[in-house]
Amino acid sequence: MEKVDLLIIGGSAGGIVTGQTARRQYKDASIAVIRKEKEGQVLVPCGLPYIFGTVGSPEKNIMPDKLLSGSNIDLIIDEVTSIDKQAKTVATASGKSIGYDRLVLATGADPIIIPIPGRDLENVFCAIKDVDYLNGLLRAVAAIKDVIIIGGGFIGLEFGDEFRKRGLNVTIVEMLPHCLELVFDEGFCTLAESQLTERGVSIKTGAKVEAILGEKKVTGVRLAGGEELKADLVFMCIGVRPNTQLAQDAGLEIGETKAVWVDEYGRTSNRDIFAVGDCAEKRSFFSKRPSALKLASIAAQEGRIVGANLLELRRRNEGVVGAFATIIGDSGVGMAGLTETQAKAAGFDVVTSDVKTPDKHPGSMPGAKEFGVKLVFEKATHELLGGQVCGGLTVGEVANVLAALIQSRMTASEVATFQYGTHPFFTPSPLVYPIVNAAELALAKL
Ligand SMILES: Cc1cc2nc3c(=O)[nH]c(=O)nc-3n(C[C@H](O)[C@H](O)[C@H](O)COP(=O)(O)OP(=O)(O)OC[C@H]3O[C@@H](n4cnc5c(N)ncnc54)[C@H](O)[C@@H]3O)c2cc1C
Repeated sequence: MEKVDLLIIGGSAGGIVTGQTARRQYKDASIAVIRKEKEGQVLVPCGLPYIFGTVGSPEKNIMPDKLLSGSNIDLIIDEVTSIDKQAKTVATASGKSIGYDRLVLATGADPIIIPIPGRDLENVFCAIKDVDYLNGLLRAVAAIKDVIIIGGGFIGLEFGDEFRKRGLNVTIVEMLPHCLELVFDEGFCTLAESQLTERGVSIKTGAKVEAILGEKKVTGVRLAGGEELKADLVFMCIGVRPNTQLAQDAGLEIGETKAVWVDEYGRTSNRDIFAVGDCAEKRSFFSKRPSALKLASIAAQEGRIVGANLLELRRRNEGVVGAFATIIGDSGVGMAGLTETQAKAAGFDVVTSDVKTPDKHPGSMPGAKEFGVKLVFEKATHELLGGQVCGGLTVGEVANVLAALIQSRMTASEVATFQYGTHPFFTPSPLVYPIVNAAELALAKL
């Protein structure tokens, strides 16, 4: 029987970063990653939508295996079928038994398939992270005209925009009153919706698909209420479900969000088994309550905590702030922390402020776009709880700055005086720097 000190199940964002961190922290440990994907077949998960318009093929959207070999981490291509906690071994589909001192579950999550009639028809797809499957989708979209996307979250919008770039007729059907409603306040949702419709994507909000129509292949969908929409292909993206089967079979505790329960060090209910990424339960930075957020950035951050904790507890997880951005054409929206709606729902009394300014200075600089920031502060403590931004290609990094300010629990006064750099091509003017200005505005109301 093979045996390694540290065995990681899963070779994507969470598994790779856990392995790399463990290597930095524990130079002499033997480390192996075991994963299902063959050599050179691990997709950049966040790049999936861009295969269909911008990047061109799954093969151009791959994480290099050198990320493992360069850190002296062994790669085993196989599927783990069970874990024996007492013997500290895992069994694999190819019949191997591998021993471990510490085990990490980084088994990720799979898309939820809505249990509606027609879900098994030809040309019903979802965001499965598999090269062959996505090549199948690529072939299918090359032969069709009308696509219905079920779900107006950021993944649905990104696929919609990319399908549109190929000239397809795209309709996004969203159950809630707005796309992106679970992650942005209304003004940002309507902005993203209008950017999509300007690019020729149709949006139907407040609408629920109750059946996919067709004999063998998709021909359309039927909405609750009876309206039928024509479609050659249906793309479902309503969320993901954590892969917890192995953990459940091994008797590990499952949390409220149906992910593997972990403590603040990333340990499961068995002290020698850890979990990171989409399969592991998260806690909110703000309330410490279970959070359903699942992002590659969170998986990587958890990997940096758990990788350090495997042989000795060295890092604590303070909970997820949550930060991300998305792009429509060459415009973006980004966020960090809580929206105003989420903060109020969580019981915070809040003050908000909005500012707009050109994202370069002077505003006549070629390529300048309007840049908007909304900040949410807690009334009692003046602490920054959340921020949303809209503008051009800088929104992703501005959202990251906001996440750092939130994680540092900065108050409105501290945000108003934080030190930043500016440059005419890269940033708004120092005189109206939007994060700072929004904090000044909020202070005036506090
Ligand atoms: C279309 C799309 C766009 C996204 N965009 C963004 C974005 O812009 N920003 C962002 O932060 N996040 C984004 N995400 C979310 C992000 O992709 C996930 O949070 C991330 O992939 C989680 O990483 P993970 O390592 O936990 O799991 P996964 O990426 O799901 O990887 C799981 C790994 O476990 C392996 N595995 C599972 N079971 C077994 C087993 N029994 N034996 C062996 N191996 C096993 C798999 O083979 C795989 O290697 C996006 C997701 C999608 C689908």
